Amino acid sequence: MEFAMFCTRVNTLLLLVVLCSSCKFIQSPMDFGPLDIAQTTSTASLDFGSILFNSPSGVLRPESPRDISLLLSFLSASSFSQVTVAARGAGHSIYGQAQAPDGIVIMMDSLPSTIEIHRRRDGEAALSYADVSGGVLWVELLAESLKVGLAPRSWTDYLYLSIGGTLSNGGISGQAFKYGPQITNVLQLDVITGKGKLVTCSPTMSSELFYAVLGGLGQFGIITSARILLQDAPHKVRWLRAFYQDFDIFTKDQELLISMPEKVDYVEGFIVLDERSLHGSSIAFPSHMDFIPDLQKGSSNVYYCIEFAVYVYEAKDSSIEQVAEEILRQMSYMPSRIYSVEVSYFDFLNRVRMEEMELRRRGVWDIPHPWLNMFVPKSGIKEFRDLLMENISPQDFEGPILIYPLLREKWSTNTSAVLPEVAADSTGGGGDDEVVYIVGVLRSATPGSCPPGCLHDLLRRNRRITEAAVGGQVGAKQYLPHHQTAMQWRQHFGRGWERFAARKARFDPLNILAPGQGIFPRIS
Ligand code: FAD
Repeated sequence: MEFAMFCTRVNTLLLLVVLCSSCKFIQSPMDFGPLDIAQTTSTASLDFGSILFNSPSGVLRPESPRDISLLLSFLSASSFSQVTVAARGAGHSIYGQAQAPDGIVIMMDSLPSTIEIHRRRDGEAALSYADVSGGVLWVELLAESLKVGLAPRSWTDYLYLSIGGTLSNGGISGQAFKYGPQITNVLQLDVITGKGKLVTCSPTMSSELFYAVLGGLGQFGIITSARILLQDAPHKVRWLRAFYQDFDIFTKDQELLISMPEKVDYVEGFIVLDERSLHGSSIAFPSHMDFIPDLQKGSSNVYYCIEFAVYVYEAKDSSIEQVAEEILRQMSYMPSRIYSVEVSYFDFLNRVRMEEMELRRRGVWDIPHPWLNMFVPKSGIKEFRDLLMENISPQDFEGPILIYPLLREKWSTNTSAVLPEVAADSTGGGGDDEVVYIVGVLRSATPGSCPPGCLHDLLRRNRRITEAAVGGQVGAKQYLPHHQTAMQWRQHFGRGWERFAARKARFDPLNILAPGQGIFPRIS
């Protein structure tokens, strides 16, 4: 049986080599052996998480969307095949989501890198936008759009992620309270479905596919191009950090900030266990690190830090100081624990790159990352904080813990993205369901903090936190979800499961796409 399945797979791959004349199709090193092939397949077996390693049987480096369409048309028409296919953007998943065990990985960065900027002319009603191929990195789009004074509105903290990869999840950062996640800032997509059909879709054209793909975990189609909304780019950014000892005051101030979108452009926050908790800090904010080591001196306290920003649109706009002062007057941070710098818009958005370079220099970038990301309703955020602190030891935790509020109304319920469900008995009076926190426990398993064997323990702890937060009073949901069983996936989607499964049956009926998510087993 094993042997027969293997033969069938190899036959399929050989057929593909013949069919796919323009693209480069590479089989696994087991079949051919040269070094560059080994490197390509081993890259496709890896991701940023460094927790799961699944080798594909082959890697496709398409030279056009047609190559992808050809591959998927062939696979969906050949009933004998068990082959699965995963698009790989920048490979920054944590739990093998862009891997295809024994299947085919499509390297999206090999598609021609197209970025076409369309600037709205004065008096025109239409919005400015960019048409971008799916494998382009957000940092490339930023650099290109800034040349004409424009930029996307909604971001991720780290920009070396692909357009198709973040649109398959959500794409969130400190601007999301104001503009929504990246998936609500897209006007149109070119998608190749699991049946190999190339479809241009938007809210008014093949809208079911458009919304399915956004936040769809790669299940319904491969995004070969996206039309991203642009706005005028700010000239520079006033970037501030304020510290707190009291969690309630911290969250109250965060919620105050997101209630002022006319003044505030970005809001995030951190739980500060020690000086390692504030990513990028030593470079941008060298002065605010001095008091944090006090946390280590016998007390088990933590600090909380709000990070927010105000954008400056005119080069000589002096009102920025006044705006910042007005905001600060309403906040209740620890006396004198406020820090502020002014940086270019590009440097602000690209801030995590500074940290990456530092971690690479120390040799602690390419290590396991047992990350956990959860959406937590406002009503459960304090309980979730307690749960987290019970399961984390500040002494051996390395990495930031992000925590900041989002507004549910900025998310479209048509997309496949999952937020905590609104409680059935909610009267809507207090508006508590409207605010949802994102909490990112971004742990690095450095050799210093995680000796061999401890990774399993950390993953077990993550599972414990997730189970308690999803199942109990907290009512949380995972962001960038990773589940082990069909039942857990059903629970994850909750009331949205039927729609998700129906969309899958319609756009990828043989369950060919994104097997690394582990949601739907391949149908032969
Ligand atoms: P990949 O890991 O390559 O793919 C992810 C999934 O999308 C896979 O299932 C894959 O098959 C599918 N996919 C990839 N490309 C396509 C395509 N073109 N069409 C259809 N499906 C596709 N997320 C945030 O929201 N906010 C953040 O601030 C943030 N910061 C991060 C910082 C770092 C350092 C890292 C490692 C991750 C961060 N993320 C953040 C998570 C990130 O958004 C997701 O992991 C995202 O999927 C990464 O994009 P990628 O191109 O690496 O995707």
